[in-house]
This record gives sequence, C-alpha cells and structure tokens, in this order.
Amino acid sequence: MTDRRITKVKTGYYRIPLAEILSDAKHGDHTHFELITCTIECADGYAGTGYTYTGGKGGRAIYSLIEDEYKSGLLGQDSSKIRDIWQSMYWDLHYVGRGGLVSFAMSAIDIALWDIHCHRLQQPLHQVLGGASDRTLCYAGGIDLNFHIDKLLSNISGYLEKGFEAVKIKVGKDDYKEDVARVEAVRELIGNQRVFMVDANYSLSESRAIEFGKAISHCNIAWFEEPTMPDEYASYGRIADAIDIPLAMGENLHTQQEFELAVAHSKLGFVQPDASNIGGITGFMQVAELAKLHGLPLCSHGMQELHVSLLASQPHAGYLEVHSFPIDQYTKSPLKLHQGQALAPTNPGIGVEFDPQLITPHLVKSS
Ligand SMILES: [Mg+2]
Repeated sequence: MTDRRITKVKTGYYRIPLAEILSDAKHGDHTHFELITCTIECADGYAGTGYTYTGGKGGRAIYSLIEDEYKSGLLGQDSSKIRDIWQSMYWDLHYVGRGGLVSFAMSAIDIALWDIHCHRLQQPLHQVLGGASDRTLCYAGGIDLNFHIDKLLSNISGYLEKGFEAVKIKVGKDDYKEDVARVEAVRELIGNQRVFMVDANYSLSESRAIEFGKAISHCNIAWFEEPTMPDEYASYGRIADAIDIPLAMGENLHTQQEFELAVAHSKLGFVQPDASNIGGITGFMQVAELAKLHGLPLCSHGMQELHVSLLASQPHAGYLEVHSFPIDQYTKSPLKLHQGQALAPTNPGIGVEFDPQLITPHLVKSS
C-alpha cells in the first residue's frame, strides 16, 4: 500500500509591494500584501503547495501558527485524510483562535493537501470538485477609494480594456454624496449593460447605508457589499428590507457558523467566501454547499488564481472577484480572461504554481 504520510512541511513568508498605494474605507492605505506559503511533501513522492495572504499585517503570526503550532502534528499524518486533518487543526486551536489568524493558517495547509490530492488524481482542481464548467463570470475589484474621480474613471477604463464586463468600486467617503457622484460617473462610463457593484468595507452605519442605498438605486447596482459591520447580521437584514439592491458579504466571515448566521439573518443576495481565511478549499466547499441549499450564488473574495477553479466547479457560481492584490501575477499562469469570463487552469493540481524568480526577491523568512 502506498505510504501517503507527510514527511516534510516547509513554510515561507513574503512581503510583496503593490505598484501603488490602494485604500478602502476601513483598512487605510495598503502598500504591500503578505503571502504565506506552505509546501507539504509526502513519503510517496507527491508534494503540494498551499497559501494564504493578508492586506499587509498579521502574516508573521500566521507563519508562526503553521511552523510552531501545526507542523509537528502534521508530520506522519496520512495526507489523503484531508477532512480528518482539517478537523484536528480546527479543534487543536479552537479555544485560543476560533476564526481569525487560525483560519488563515489552516487554509494554507488545507490548500496544500488539496494540491497533493489533485496531483495524485492527475486532474485539475475544477474537475476534482465537480467540473460544472471550466470558466466563470468575473469582475475587477478596485481598491480605489483614495483615487481622485479622474483616476477612478481611468482605472475603470483600464479594466474594460483588459476585457472585464463587470467592475466594483469602493465607497465610504466622509460625505456619502461624493460616493453617489462617483457611482453615477462610473455607471455613465461603463454603460448600462455592464455589471457594477459597490463595496463599503463595513464603514457605514445602518441608517447611512439605507440612505446611500436609496440614493444609488437608479444606477442598476448588482450588489452592495459589506455596508455595516460583518457581525451585525440583523442590521444587514433590515438594510436589505429597506433598499432594492442585493447585499453581499463573506470576506470577514471566517467560520462556518458565521456563514450560517449570515445566511439565516442577513437576507444576502450573494455570498463571498475566501478560501484563504475560511479554512481552505475544505472550508470554502462547506460554504458552497450552504449557498446551494439556500439558492444563493457563490462568489469569492481575493486570490482569483485559486478561486477561479472553485467557482468554475460549481453550478451555482456567481462572480469571481479579480482582486487588486495581483497574487496571480506571481504565479507561472496568471489569470486568463475570455469574453468577460475567467478560465480555470487545466493542469493537474490546484493550478497555482508560484514563480520562484518572481517571489523569491520578496521572501522575508522560510523554514
Ligand atoms: Mg470587499
């Protein structure tokens, strides 16, 4: 019988500068993103790499969680028992770290195990997970709250030139009327046929979110993302009742229980899990099942190079976010678009292979 035990776990921590400063309403200026990689090797010769990312802070703690808390327990485990390993990682640190950083560390490890699983099957991830399609709808997600209106519009034009048929902008200016003007200007630029979303990064009060939602109701907005604090599930429900724009959230829900609460109380139109912080592909697929059960389109946040396969695999896929952290540009196969859709990689594995020439200059530490 094949020996699938884990023999080696290697962790890497990278800080990668952004081409320009990007801002939203709650996280301030982003100058870098962090990438934490986890490569797992097995006795049968198979290996896989998973990863997670942050907006510039917390990455060292995630590196430490993998290295100092999880690594010794992983060595010697059967790498094909992904769900068992996931459960044991979850309960090992549940008391000190339910959700939060622990979910990020678990994600990197879980994604590495799925990479190994797909390599053993010699199949691409989207096929292994169901293969509903080999592509998915997508949109360009700008982090552009700090951009002057002229730059905002030229940035959106850049997205259209790259082939995007759907775009999202940040909102949450001190004076919401400025947001309304920006939304109106973008809608005018892109025309009425293209899909357009807005994202407040939970910066608004409930009453302001309702006021703003009503003020942009003529702009044909596909969704209003994170109007208020993500834990205020009932507030989302009241906002959804008061305006005619569907709500979306997910990037700040880091446990299954949080998604269950959101689906039960927030009257969402879309869910947006992120495999980098919901416990990897195992966690993402649990949310995918929940969304299917409730008839909700499954969307994603960040790490487009991985999520493209997850969404393509599912019959109830909504929109892939092509995030402004260009992680895919540091891989050997950056995301490809065709007629406004993103194409899932067809090579065996998760389809994300980092290019050492591109990421090694940004390595801070590794094991
Ligand atoms: Mg967002």
